[in-house]
Amino acid sequence: MKIEWIPLSIVAARLAQAHHTGTMEGNGNGLDMRARAKALLKTGCDLGASDIDIRRLAGHAVIEMHIDGTVREYDEITTDYADKLINALYMLTKQQYRPKQSQDGSIAGRDLMGTGLVNVRIARTPIAPVDADAQWLNMRLQAGVQKVPAVDALKGLKRVEPPPGKLDLVSSGWTEKQAELLQTFVLNATGTVIFTGPPGSGKTHVLHRLSEHIARTRPGQRQAFIEQPVETILPHAPQLNILDTLTAKRRRSLCAQNPPRSAYGRQHSGLGEIRDPLVATTWLSAAETGMLMMSTMHTAHPFLAIPRLRDMDPDRLALPIICDPAIICGLVGQRLVPILCDHCALPWDQNDPRLTQIMRNAILTWQRPDWRASDIRRLGPGCPHCAWKGTVRRQVVAEVVDPDETLMADFIQYGPTLARHRYHTRSNADTTMLEKGMGLVFQGRMDPFDVPLKIERIRAWDFLQRERERALKGLETTPLMERGH
Ligand SMILES: [Zn+2]
Repeated sequence: MKIEWIPLSIVAARLAQAHHTGTMEGNGNGLDMRARAKALLKTGCDLGASDIDIRRLAGHAVIEMHIDGTVREYDEITTDYADKLINALYMLTKQQYRPKQSQDGSIAGRDLMGTGLVNVRIARTPIAPVDADAQWLNMRLQAGVQKVPAVDALKGLKRVEPPPGKLDLVSSGWTEKQAELLQTFVLNATGTVIFTGPPGSGKTHVLHRLSEHIARTRPGQRQAFIEQPVETILPHAPQLNILDTLTAKRRRSLCAQNPPRSAYGRQHSGLGEIRDPLVATTWLSAAETGMLMMSTMHTAHPFLAIPRLRDMDPDRLALPIICDPAIICGLVGQRLVPILCDHCALPWDQNDPRLTQIMRNAILTWQRPDWRASDIRRLGPGCPHCAWKGTVRRQVVAEVVDPDETLMADFIQYGPTLARHRYHTRSNADTTMLEKGMGLVFQGRMDPFDVPLKIERIRAWDFLQRERERALKGLETTPLMERGH
C-alpha cells in the first residue's frame, strides 16, 4: 500500500471534479439541483433507508443513510455542493433556506413524484462549528411501498469510521470500578446517565469520552449533543449549540425526530444541562420512548439530581415516575481537585490558621491506623517542578452511583437524604467524594484547605457513620404504620 500526502485543497478540488463528472453530472443550476435532490430521495427509497442525513461540516460534508437502524455513509461531498443540495431540498418544501436558523419542513405530493416516497419530513439545525456554517439535516422518509433493497446497492455504502484510540478514564482520576460502571451504563438501551457537579468539574470531558466509546463500539449509531456552548468539536456526533441555535421547543423536536426504531438503531443523545421544567419534561418524554441519554445538572452530590428533577414539575416528574432504573440508569458526581507538588508541599500543622477549630477537629476524626495526621501536607511555596504553583495537576474525584431497584424504592419511600445514607451502608457502594478527598488528604496529595472549596464541607467521620446508622434503623425499628403510610 502506498500513502500519498496531498494538501486538503487538492482533495476538495478532486471531490468537486468527481461530482461534475460522476453520477451527478451538470452545471449545478437551480433546476438541475432540484433534480439531484429528488434523485437523492429516490436513492434513499431504493435503498430502504428510513432517514437520510446530510452533515455539512467545516471542510467537507457527508451524506448518510439510516438502514435498519444503522447509519451508513453514502457519499462524501464538498461543502459547496452540500449547500446547493440543502437549498434545493428547501425549495421542494416551498421555503427559503435560512442557514443560520433551525428549520423544519416537509415534502409531499407532486414534488415527490418518481421517488417512490409519499412524505419526507425535514429537520435541520446549525451545528458546531457554527461560524463555518456547519449544518445537520435529517430527512425522515416515508415510502409508498417498503422496498427490499438490492444487495449490490447496499454494498456501496460504507461503514461509519469509528474514532481512534480507546477509552481511558483511569488516568484522569476515575477508579477502575467507576470506569467499568460508566461503560456499563452507556451499554444500556435506555435510560439517562446524569452527571452532576459545579461548572469546570470536567463533566463535558467525560461525556465526550463516553460518546467516543459508544461510537467506537457501535459506529453506526447516531449520537447528538446539545451543549452550551460547544467547546471541543467531536467529529463523530453533531453538536448543537444551545446558546445560538436552540430553544427548548427545538430541543423537543430534536428528541421527537430521533426515536429509536429497532434494537440495532438505538439513538444516543447528550442532552446538555437539564435546568428548567420544559427541558425536564422533554427529557422525560425522550427517556420514556427509550433513548439512552447523558445529561448534566448542577447539584452538590449525585443523589440530589432526583429531587431537583422532581421539583421542576412535581406532577409530571413525581418520584414514582422518575425513580425507575429504565429512566435513570446512572448518577455521577464529580469534581476536579488540585494535587500538591511532591517537591515543595509542606507538612500540615494541626493548628492551621486557615481553618476553623471545627474543621481541624473534623479532619482529625478521619484518622485511622493507616491514615495518620502526620502524613497530611499543605500547599508549599512553589518550586521549579510545579512551575511555582505548588500544585502539579487536577484530578477527578467522583462518585458513581448505580441506581438499582432498591435505591429507587428507597428514594420513593424515604426521600433522597435517607436513600443516600442507606445506599452508603452497602459494602459494595462507591465511596462518597468527601471520603475519596479525605483519602487524598491523608496521602499528603491534597491540601485539606481545598476540601470544602472543591468537594464539600468536612464533616466528622463518626457523625457521618451515625447518620447512616440512623437511616438504616429507620427501616428496621419503625413499623410502617408509625411513619404514616
Ligand atoms: Zn513544587
